[in-house]
Amino acid sequence: MRAPIKHCKNCGMAVVYRLPDDGDTKQRAVCTACTTIHYENPLNVVGTVPYWGDKVLLCKRNIEPRWGMWTLPAGFMELGESTAQGAARETVEEAGAEFEMEGLFTVLNVPRVGQVHLFYRAKLLSDQFNPGVETIEARLYAEHEIPWEELAFKTVRETLERFFADKKTGRYAIHDLDIH
Ligand SMILES: [Zn+2]
Repeated sequence: MRAPIKHCKNCGMAVVYRLPDDGDTKQRAVCTACTTIHYENPLNVVGTVPYWGDKVLLCKRNIEPRWGMWTLPAGFMELGESTAQGAARETVEEAGAEFEMEGLFTVLNVPRVGQVHLFYRAKLLSDQFNPGVETIEARLYAEHEIPWEELAFKTVRETLERFFADKKTGRYAIHDLDIH
């Protein structure tokens, strides 16, 4: 879970978690000095399933958490961009891949950490990659080669399992899942 807020973003004084006076039903971080209420809401993680024929591109993480584990290219959405733009940006940053964005593929709620992960399908236009500093290695894996025990996140596993299943049928659904 995200670390609790300690100081007011408005005046820097200490906050306390309590019910605000406005009838709100959730405890919020409320400033003890200026009474500013700090709302905390889920964050979006956006990424892609880049594919080349029957293979999928995975990146070996050069950052914590899960250093050295394999992931699909993904990261936190930035202000001012759409979910698809963020997913494309992360794919360029982490893999240096050339690709065409396709449809939304998975929406994964992870309430325990206050995140929603969204993955888009992305058709690779080349099998040459130029990974950025956050990636040790970027390479293509066929389904039987996927390092299932070395995947960084459950959302990546769930997305890959559904991708290979849908690929066999030739029809891609949008999968809406809750991860507990
Ligand atoms: Zn304050």
